[in-house]
Amino acid sequence: MTTPDSLAAAAAKAPGATDPTARQFAGERPAFAPELLAPPPAFAPEAARRDVPALHRSVNGQPLVWLDNGATTHKPRQVIEAVAGFYGAGNSNIHRGAHTMAREATEAYEAGRAAVARFLGAASPDEIVFVRGTTEAVNLVAQSWGRANLGPGDDILVPVLEHHSNIVPWQLVAKETRARVVPVPLRPDGQIDLDAYADRLSVRTRLVALSQASNVLGTVPPVAEMTALAHRYRARVLVDGAQAVAHFPVDVRALDADFYVFSGHKLFAPTGIGALYAKPELLAAMAPWQGGGNMIESVSFDRTDYAPVPHRLEAGTGHIAGVVGLLAAVTWLTGFDREAVAAYEAGLLEHARQALAGVPGLDVIGDAPERIAVLAFTLAGHDPAAVAAWLDRDGIAVRAGHHCAQPALAHYGLDSAVRASLALYNTPEEVDRLAASLRRMQRSG
Ligand code: PMP
Repeated sequence: MTTPDSLAAAAAKAPGATDPTARQFAGERPAFAPELLAPPPAFAPEAARRDVPALHRSVNGQPLVWLDNGATTHKPRQVIEAVAGFYGAGNSNIHRGAHTMAREATEAYEAGRAAVARFLGAASPDEIVFVRGTTEAVNLVAQSWGRANLGPGDDILVPVLEHHSNIVPWQLVAKETRARVVPVPLRPDGQIDLDAYADRLSVRTRLVALSQASNVLGTVPPVAEMTALAHRYRARVLVDGAQAVAHFPVDVRALDADFYVFSGHKLFAPTGIGALYAKPELLAAMAPWQGGGNMIESVSFDRTDYAPVPHRLEAGTGHIAGVVGLLAAVTWLTGFDREAVAAYEAGLLEHARQALAGVPGLDVIGDAPERIAVLAFTLAGHDPAAVAAWLDRDGIAVRAGHHCAQPALAHYGLDSAVRASLALYNTPEEVDRLAASLRRMQRSG
């Protein structure tokens, strides 16, 4: 069984685990400063757990084990207090009204935009549009950019791995514009087949829509390389970061993504808030997809002038408290050493793989070398829904079903699987409880 020590060792070997000290002193060993050569402090999940009240409740008489982070994450008290504080004392609509509270709410909202821009490595807050979440962001791009830029005979490349939110909006706009949605197949281990991807790219390709981390297999594809290749064909690339943002640092400019989308609720923030990043030249050319207040310069029955982006794409009153919560969540998460968090999660994933390997009849689906801490599996002789119900009786929350990724499961001849999705606040002991409960289920017949 893996101990926390071996976790740390696995973490050190993990992809993305870089040692800043080693980087700083590459090639030299200053004997006068041995403390600088020590490894960076490892991340301890307790540092995050103590902030998250929901993790301390019990379910069905057992301490909760929350392994459904792919569906949504729990919220640290910093987020809960920020939202409560906004409604308790700061509540006002924004961008209008010449009073103090409107000004304060506007400042908080725009501070949230600036924080998201920094979080994603965008050049300016003006490149960030607030939306309800990933789904709305993809639909916004499909309906605004897509309608203007797609036409008959154009291809939209979508890996089979994608969440339905990154498939169906493209099917809708393809139908309207007579473009085609072209699936990019998977290899048996759950990686995108890059040869097939290269084959399918052509001058007809207008867009590649791919996720930076799969919600069902955990696969992390080589997004920067795939984007560079797409750009050789002058195709645009939309990156779905819904599952990535909570797990490792993102830099939209290093990826050279044209669009990047994510949901706050998978990032320890409230539901109903998320963001779209787009390159400024693309945003500037995007027509409104919804009309209403907040997105106009002036309105008359003869002529309506729109506000500049990003406001042009944010019709109506937004989720102001959600932005306040998102700002608190980003501040909370970035308060940790994110490389250390990624290394910790990689070690935790390795621990989970070893623990689940000891469960008779358990098959993990997919085995991509680069992945986030998500494990989908089947258990011989048991329906995934029955597995989830059994685990729930032990206080362990996992998801069972198609995970809104039916084509990815169909690739394995499945229509349903169990999924354990881990976050920085999960521990090896929780993973051991999962494995022990599954072993008991197998023994019970
Ligand atoms: N893409 C991926 C990869 C996801 O995991 C999810 C949520 N499971 C979505 C898109 C959709 O996110 P939301 O429901 O928050 O819009």
